[in-house]
Amino acid sequence: ATPIAMVSGISRSARSGVIVKDGRGLEALARVRTVCVDKTGTLTAGHPEVVDVTLFGEVSEADVRSLAAAVEQLSAHPFAAAMVAAAGSAPLPVPTQVEEVAGEGVRGRVEGRVVAVGTRAFVSANGASVGPADPVATGVPGDTVAWVGVEGQVVAAMRLRDPVRPEARRTVQRLNRAGVARTVLVTGDSLDVATGVADAVGITRVHAGCTPAGKVARVAEEQSTQPTAMVGDGVNDAPSLAAADVGIAMGARGATASSEAADLVITADRIDALADVHHIARDTIRIAR
Ligand code: ADP
Ligand code: MG
Repeated sequence: ATPIAMVSGISRSARSGVIVKDGRGLEALARVRTVCVDKTGTLTAGHPEVVDVTLFGEVSEADVRSLAAAVEQLSAHPFAAAMVAAAGSAPLPVPTQVEEVAGEGVRGRVEGRVVAVGTRAFVSANGASVGPADPVATGVPGDTVAWVGVEGQVVAAMRLRDPVRPEARRTVQRLNRAGVARTVLVTGDSLDVATGVADAVGITRVHAGCTPAGKVARVAEEQSTQPTAMVGDGVNDAPSLAAADVGIAMGARGATASSEAADLVITADRIDALADVHHIARDTIRIAR
């Protein structure tokens, strides 16, 4: 694109709520044929609420809420705020040795016991517990479960409600009509949850249970056949945002790791800004041809 066209494209993007760090990001976006998207915070609103708690052990519901919130206090993950809110107003126990594993969960020592919150595999990683079957699905797209483990035993499942963004389906349609041949969901969440959200927004390719490195591998796989964008909001998305031909961060809450790794940052808390900026990118590059 000519410098004038590029300046115009960048300022149009800004008016649509998208920061373009460098004109090359717009050029890359115009050529993209595959768009990989994260689930939590990207296709969903990313402000989950705890809607119920299922107990599997001897630990009471009040203790589950308090222990989970205690280890989540310092986490920036969208689930963490939900856990802290769900614990009510009583002071939380102070955790030690807190350690967060991106895409899996957080664990720490609380009142002498190791408490873990996250995926099922993460909370019972040492095989110390056979654990319960999955709680019955609600059928509400975006509903998900965070497991709570104490000393390697699964003691509870906390259901989180994180609704699909109402404009997500239309965004996928707009991309598909504008030359994006393939949209792919890549998430750290379970296959059931991922498939429910993918169905709700009209995505047919799903990769669930991805670690941050797993997301990079999926993006690389797509890139080997077609120019590929990655769209995500979390710390767990930073490596795949950096690896893609163009990385696009949902940055409304300013998750700095993802914003720093990305070429474009959506500051509007709306996923349709993605279709807007894709349209602007194609317009900008076309002007110059
Ligand atoms: P996504 O790819 O959908 O944005 P993440 O990669 O952030 O999801 O997380 C994947 C899964 O790991 C979540 O669905 C959740 O089960 C678990 N998880 C990650 N971090 C946390 C945390 N701080 N607290 C609870 N669960 C977590
Ligand atoms: Mg996310």
